[in-house]
Amino acid sequence: MSLKGKMENVLLQEEPLTRSGFLMKKVGEKMGLEKEIIEDIINPQHILILRLPVKFWGKVYVTWGCVVLHNNARGPYKGGVRIAPDVNIWETMELARLMSLKTAVTEIEFGGGKTGIRLNMEEVYKFFKKEKDRNFEKTLHLDICEELSYQINRYLMDHTYIPAPDMGSGPEEMAFIYNQTHDPATVTGKPEGIAGWLPGRKESTGYGCSYATKIFMEEILGAKLKNARVGIQGFGNVGSNLALYLYQMGAKVIGITDLYGGIYDENGIDIPSLFEYVKKNYTVKEFKKESITNEQLFSLDLDVLIPAATGHVINETNASKIKAKIIVEAANSPITKEGMEILNERKMPVIPDIIANSGGVIASMEEYSRSLSAIKISKEDVFGIIRKKIEDSLRMTCEISKEERISYPEAAIQIAMVRIYDAMKKRYHI
Ligand code: NAD
Repeated sequence: MSLKGKMENVLLQEEPLTRSGFLMKKVGEKMGLEKEIIEDIINPQHILILRLPVKFWGKVYVTWGCVVLHNNARGPYKGGVRIAPDVNIWETMELARLMSLKTAVTEIEFGGGKTGIRLNMEEVYKFFKKEKDRNFEKTLHLDICEELSYQINRYLMDHTYIPAPDMGSGPEEMAFIYNQTHDPATVTGKPEGIAGWLPGRKESTGYGCSYATKIFMEEILGAKLKNARVGIQGFGNVGSNLALYLYQMGAKVIGITDLYGGIYDENGIDIPSLFEYVKKNYTVKEFKKESITNEQLFSLDLDVLIPAATGHVINETNASKIKAKIIVEAANSPITKEGMEILNERKMPVIPDIIANSGGVIASMEEYSRSLSAIKISKEDVFGIIRKKIEDSLRMTCEISKEERISYPEAAIQIAMVRIYDAMKKRYHI
């Protein structure tokens, strides 16, 4: 199987303009940086394209992936492993860049990176002549992660790149990466009970996001989270934990969608029971009689809309229909540049992804730094660290946004860019 048509050829094409790229250029110009320096901060430092053959069920199945090492001026390249059918090099570059910005705005001593692996299960089932089977899918994911860690072993072993879970990967995949390296500090998001695991890591992104929503609602907007009407897209690792914490804080989650369908309850969905339902059924679909589509979710009369699934779901086609009072970007890059321009015109506040979903990487820093000491801290202490980091970065972002009359996403990028540039100047004399 050739590379052509599998992953875009980065050497021949120009990256499409993304929201983060656009805002970083704007901020860089405001900082008075030269064009080449701005490009140096926007662009990744290394890209690895990987052919990933896996020996499986008596056959060899080949898929493709890429590892984007965006910026390590402030610390090792850090970022999750995404396994999805629509992964491409540009998306992986954007996600790696967001990691550099996220670790900088929250002041964590990591840089940014990302792995994207394109896996189309429909093609896989055809190739193996097999019916849908979740255990089969899981084993394939684990094998792919094993092959990935074999191929990038050198980057893992010297802690150049430290992976973590993202869409399509979780603690079990991280355990398989650890199986190859035998060093617990080479990967974060490891499952409970194995060397270097961190209490609270699994729930950390959802928890941090719920906390960012709470402070923003109550302290910045002066509104109440109790009984606030919330809609969430996605009920995976991030969306489910986030829904549970918001439910426990007294919010009313009235609509939830996932890849297979959606549910609606005007009186609020019973999230603990939904958790149990999804464990058995793998989807929220049919948990409630009343169903809802993604587009209906986005145009509900809500206090808080939280895209917690995938990228670019709020764009020029639907941004004008959103009725929520605030949007919280639990997913990475759920709002496109064009979508954000419409929301800015409508003065709709957006808590940016690089703060809203930073709980995971904040916990990862703890997991990384404690992986070899084997001294555990409690889940409560991990959550305390997440609260402090998120609160500090959110407050600073709100102050800059107010002073300079710029959007929250732009203000957050400004804080991050200044810190990345400062580290690059000191390390590389740019
Ligand atoms: P996941 O794979 O556990 O869950 C994804 C959820 O989104 C599932 O419920 C899936 O059905 C749903 N979904 C996917 N595509 C959809 C679509 N087109 N329409 C509606 N629903 C859809 O993934 P996750 O780990 O929860 O990650 C979700 C988002 O959060 C991603 O953008 C990821 O980059 C971001 N994120 C994750 C972490 C983490 O710690 N896992 C940290 C930071 C950011």
